[in-house]
Amino acid sequence: MIQPLTTPEAQTAPNSIENRIDLVGLSKAELKTQLTDIGEPAFRAKQLWHWIYHRGETDFDQMTTIAKSLRAILNEKFIVRRPGIALEQTSNDKSRKWLFKFHDGNEAETVFIPEEDRGAVCISSQVGCSLSCTFCHTGTMDLVRNLTAGEIVGQMMAARDSYNEWPSPSGDRLLSNIVMMGMGEPLINYENVAKALTIIMDGEGIAISKRRITLSTSGLVPMMDRCGSELGVNLAVSLHAVTDELRDVLVPINKKYPIKELLDACRRYPSANNARRITFEYVMLKGVNDSQADARELVRMAKGIPVKFNLIPFNPWPGVAYDCSTMSDMKRFSEILNDGGFSAPIRVPRGRDILAACGQLKSASKRDVEKLKQDARQRQSEREAS
Ligand code: SAH
Ligand code: SF4
Repeated sequence: MIQPLTTPEAQTAPNSIENRIDLVGLSKAELKTQLTDIGEPAFRAKQLWHWIYHRGETDFDQMTTIAKSLRAILNEKFIVRRPGIALEQTSNDKSRKWLFKFHDGNEAETVFIPEEDRGAVCISSQVGCSLSCTFCHTGTMDLVRNLTAGEIVGQMMAARDSYNEWPSPSGDRLLSNIVMMGMGEPLINYENVAKALTIIMDGEGIAISKRRITLSTSGLVPMMDRCGSELGVNLAVSLHAVTDELRDVLVPINKKYPIKELLDACRRYPSANNARRITFEYVMLKGVNDSQADARELVRMAKGIPVKFNLIPFNPWPGVAYDCSTMSDMKRFSEILNDGGFSAPIRVPRGRDILAACGQLKSASKRDVEKLKQDARQRQSEREAS
């Protein structure tokens, strides 16, 4: 009798999908070990790596440089997994958001933000977040779990699938940059994030250089040091306030690592220099942190640190108490920083119509489905009215 894959018997069968080892997210050394364990020479790992990360192939049968007999064994034991797509939405401004479903049913969001000839993929590091910043939508949902290295790399790979960007182009590519600014605090899940970024940076695969990767942190000081020395990626720090009193409320991790310690960690961040500046992210909250005195204090605090600012207009979400600063206040704020010698552009919000902008991510396919239904109802009533 043929068993459907979903039965408990099928799941415990030796070669069921559940029992196969996912090769995505293994380090090069781990991939070698998997192959030597089945009696294959280590150089096969190089071939497989090329197929998986350079060609983007998920089907062993299509890996034509590998002998058919070995392909059959690979099919038995391994899998090259992608996260499932629970929802894909493209914004009026062409940003694209995916709600990815992982094999245990948990979900996280990934966003692609295209520019003219390149673009950044905004990747999640956790399902939810434990840090409860009071202006952040993700912060309202608690931490469900860390994403694995395979799930983190998998988001980038699935985004590339969506744009047919395989094999990895050697020259210009649309998905050219990565920002670790999706759901979660990447430095709390440092081991998996570091493993994933090491895979993504590897020159024989996806090959995105550390100069094109930016990791955003709310300020986990000890891990900032490790991130700088081990990965050397660009750093963005969610500063958002000039006093500990206010930052304790907006970014509660500040109680553990207050502003002074955070600034010291920025001063010693290894790869930061005037050519590769740290970004201070500053969310613009009306009447909370957007006064001219705040801007002048920022200039004073940032003196001597190789930084640039990124002023983020607050993106509202249902039920939140904060408002976004007015455009004229944001412009004045930016000018004061410029006069103090710092670049401080006001970020143009992207993907607002699909809740893909900063701080709006929350894995709730239910919420998205509700929104889709609401949009459909509105279109229907518009049709009826015309
Ligand atoms: N946890 C990391 C990275 C994810 S958040 C961090 O906090 O840095 C990415 C950026 O979006 C952070 O600068 C965060 O402060 C900002 N952000 C969160 N909610 C926001 C909102 N509602 N509007 C604008 N920016 C927001
Ligand atoms: Fe977590 Fe960053 Fe949101 Fe704070 S801003 S709750 S650290 S995702």
